[in-house]
Amino acid sequence: MKTQIEAIERLAQFGVKPSLQRIAIMGYVMDNLVHPTADTVFSGLSASIPTLSKTTVYNTLKLLARQGAILELSIDDKNVRYDANIFRHAHFRCKRCGGVHDVPVGDFEALTLKYAGDLTITESQLYYKGYCGKCRANADAEADEEAPEP
Ligand SMILES: [Zn+2]
Ligand SMILES: [Zn+2]
Repeated sequence: MKTQIEAIERLAQFGVKPSLQRIAIMGYVMDNLVHPTADTVFSGLSASIPTLSKTTVYNTLKLLARQGAILELSIDDKNVRYDANIFRHAHFRCKRCGGVHDVPVGDFEALTLKYAGDLTITESQLYYKGYCGKCRANADAEADEEAPEP
């Protein structure tokens, strides 16, 4: 894992005690910036760490998100996704393949805060949905499927 040192540093930065499993899970999420689910993280690590349980992966990801070391995304209505990119950005989910992509938001946050008045925002998620480049060719067919039967 090329990011092992970075994983240890990230855990320390967010006050998470570094166990071998936590380092592996943090490193996996940092290495795989495709917004993996807990199941994906488990499948990716279970071969190299046979003692790893799904519960440990699930609980560790929750802990890392709670401490702010990773982001927890609810863009996918069936699965929570995790993101090691903790800088401000929005997400796009393809309605056909389910792929989740990063979208830069520029000074969107500054604009929001300007008009938030006395609201104290502690978390925010900005989502877009549609079709990725690969799936766009099939988008018309998808739209037809969604149309109600005559
Ligand atoms: Zn797609
Ligand atoms: Zn992201």
